[in-house]
Amino acid sequence: MDTKKTILIVDDSEFVRSYHSYILEQALFHVITAVDGSDGLEKLFTNTCDLVLTDINMSHMDGYEFIRRVRADPKYSSVPIIIVSTESESKDKMKGFLAGANLYIVKPSSPEMMVENVRMVMNMLRGDEED
Ligand SMILES: [Mg+2]
Repeated sequence: MDTKKTILIVDDSEFVRSYHSYILEQALFHVITAVDGSDGLEKLFTNTCDLVLTDINMSHMDGYEFIRRVRADPKYSSVPIIIVSTESESKDKMKGFLAGANLYIVKPSSPEMMVENVRMVMNMLRGDEED
């Protein structure tokens, strides 16, 4: 009953990946990381992930394209996705929501806020699936 939830972190910065992993592992989540959108798709498709945290600005495949591709697969149409980006303008947020993100957090975010947001989105979407 008390199994750890798995979070996939997609970010091209090694520092951000380690920092966010540390925060979420402290909050007792299991973490998997990916270095860009295409790596993110591969990790998502080969693991069971309960939530995805993704950056936007990444070479290879950016966060918007990554989210669009995730949402295009019916199997992953409802996996919770949170964008964590330094881009703070509403046009960026709108683009993220249109791609299919559930929440948009502007970096840097306090560790407490990040954990709270992850739990909130997870519980919100889990509630939807209960019968
Ligand atoms: Mg980046």
